[in-house]
Amino acid sequence: MGTVCSSQISKITNLDEIIAETGFSKGHVSRLYDRFASLDKDEKGFLSKSDFQNIGGLAVNPLGERIINAFFPDGNEAVDFRTFVRILAIFRPIENEKNKDPSAPESVNSRSNKLKFAFQLYDQDNDGKITKKELLQVLRMMVGVQVTEEQLENITERTIQEADLDGDNAISFKEYAMSLEKVNIEHKMSIRFLK
Ligand code: CA
Ligand code: CA
Repeated sequence: MGTVCSSQISKITNLDEIIAETGFSKGHVSRLYDRFASLDKDEKGFLSKSDFQNIGGLAVNPLGERIINAFFPDGNEAVDFRTFVRILAIFRPIENEKNKDPSAPESVNSRSNKLKFAFQLYDQDNDGKITKKELLQVLRMMVGVQVTEEQLENITERTIQEADLDGDNAISFKEYAMSLEKVNIEHKMSIRFLK
């Protein structure tokens, strides 16, 4: 058709605020807007859960549905562009923190915020604890059929025991973060966004 895929940046309301709160560059936001617009089939400015299901990588991810749900935190049916970008910003790589002003507010892509995102994929009832049942559900989604129910129960039991420091048989966010202390979350939970 020869149409130039020009950026629709002029359509973005609150552009400066979005840049300030997410740390994305103007180029990033513009790219993400194009992506948002391509998913927004009815062009109403909001994405529904079914729009997200058209993202190939999520459709095949065993936790895809939970990841999608994380974009709809308050039981909303639709997510606007600003919320969309704010959540993606959690996955922005962490830049060199050395020159960071220590009094600056915590950035949206901090290690702690990345961990919080992962934690809530387990903590489905949102009570701040991963119970044995919740952990078992996630493991069941992630492993294939070659693992028996008994093995899965054992893995769950052991994982809880290792992480559970206060002995309540569940994993709090603090315990979760400590159990992953040596894991390079900054790297694992970062997406390189095209500039
Ligand atoms: Ca829970
Ligand atoms: Ca505990």
